[in-house]
Amino acid sequence: MKMRAPTKEEAKALGQAFARARQTLAQTRNARRAPRCEHVQPNGERCGSPALRAHTLCWQHREQLVNPPRRPRPPIQNGTQAALDYVVSELWAGRMDTKVGGALLHGLQCAMGRDRLRRATAALTPQPDAKTPTEAGVPDAPVVGEAGPHQP
Ligand SMILES: [Zn+2]
Repeated sequence: MKMRAPTKEEAKALGQAFARARQTLAQTRNARRAPRCEHVQPNGERCGSPALRAHTLCWQHREQLVNPPRRPRPPIQNGTQAALDYVVSELWAGRMDTKVGGALLHGLQCAMGRDRLRRATAALTPQPDAKTPTEAGVPDAPVVGEAGPHQP
């Protein structure tokens, strides 16, 4: 099978493609020669990613050094107890200003007091729409010994 010679446009496109491939190869060689990140992982191995220019660490490990990862926040649930747990843990870890934490704790204490008071009030107050068993048509329960089943 005899191949035909490329047209002028095809030859130009091929030449450009080869030039791009040569450039990519040269960039890859340079990248492989770049200094490596000096971060040592917990398993004792080095990171091995290219270090940032004029730095000894890669982008990721430099970022971790500058902005250390924060402990993932526990999911916030509804409820004052969850908020209280959160404020106490942030205060304990030193991530929250003590004045702000104090104000939040006071607010939570007030909210918890109100909740407790609301629950206690609700438990003691008869509900307006609740019917007593006789109003609802349910007969009174027999008093034991008076109207109970006959026992020999
Ligand atoms: Zn690294």
